[in-house]
Amino acid sequence: MSITSINGLCLSSLSAKTSLKRQPLYYVPLSSSSSSFPSLIQDRPVFAATSPFITTTLREDMGKEYEKAIEELEKLLRGKGDLRAVAAAKVEQITAELGTQTVESSEASERIKNGFIHFKKEKYDKNPALYGELAKGQSPKFMVFACSDSRVCPSHVLDFQPGEAFVVRNVANIVPPYDQTKYAGTGAAIEFAVLHLKVQNIVVIGHSACGGIKGLLSIPDDGSTSTEFIEDWVKLGLPAKSKVKSAHAGASFQELCSHCEKEAVNVSLGNLLTYPFVREGLANKTLSLKGGYYDFVKGNFELWTLQFGLSPSFSA
Ligand SMILES: [Zn+2]
Repeated sequence: MSITSINGLCLSSLSAKTSLKRQPLYYVPLSSSSSSFPSLIQDRPVFAATSPFITTTLREDMGKEYEKAIEELEKLLRGKGDLRAVAAAKVEQITAELGTQTVESSEASERIKNGFIHFKKEKYDKNPALYGELAKGQSPKFMVFACSDSRVCPSHVLDFQPGEAFVVRNVANIVPPYDQTKYAGTGAAIEFAVLHLKVQNIVVIGHSACGGIKGLLSIPDDGSTSTEFIEDWVKLGLPAKSKVKSAHAGASFQELCSHCEKEAVNVSLGNLLTYPFVREGLANKTLSLKGGYYDFVKGNFELWTLQFGLSPSFSA
């Protein structure tokens, strides 16, 4: 089976499983034969749910955990105090209105609509060859790990065009070690990129003023945490924290953060080696691992490649 057909299968089955039965807010046909917009924009609500706000169809799709979460939300809104009672009444009022009225276009919806109009007019319609190729499949050379930080979009910073980079973004651009239970999402992305897309490079990009790394360095020495997810996630970078703290004993907190932003990238590159298909790619020289660092304060970008000792450690 070719790469393209594998991709096609995966993507079509994914979209079938994850489709939520909601009306599109705006629908702009992508075919080049379409007439000029904005007449193509159908100003329909994103969804006009009847009461109850969450429909039975959605509940069935989303499973028991989702139902439980909705129950908890209802309890929270209805069960505690006057303010929440008012909030609950308001929610009911909004819910009832949603059943009969069209949702007003919000500022956010306008932003999204205008963004897509701009993209379609200036990029999509002007590059039929590129988008025609992408319609058949993807064959990116890069897999990129970048932070979720809104200032560091790798496609923007590195000028990746559609189809060039398979991107995973998370808090502090961390690659967790191989763990089929805890980190299945990341594992699935790496497996897909390496085995099916056959990317040639995996690049982990850290950045200046990273809130995730600041959070990591702010965790007390006893390891206690006060967040639901953030600290346990960024703790994956603890080896980097230990290393920079011992290597830069007299450094300020800010300096430690800067060092750790880069060292955490190396920890992630090391974690990539825990994935057997990554090791195999390195051994076969079909894959290379690179570290990057984007300093958006100074406007710099650094790139480095790690050598993993595949050559003898000494020579006679
Ligand atoms: Zn960050």
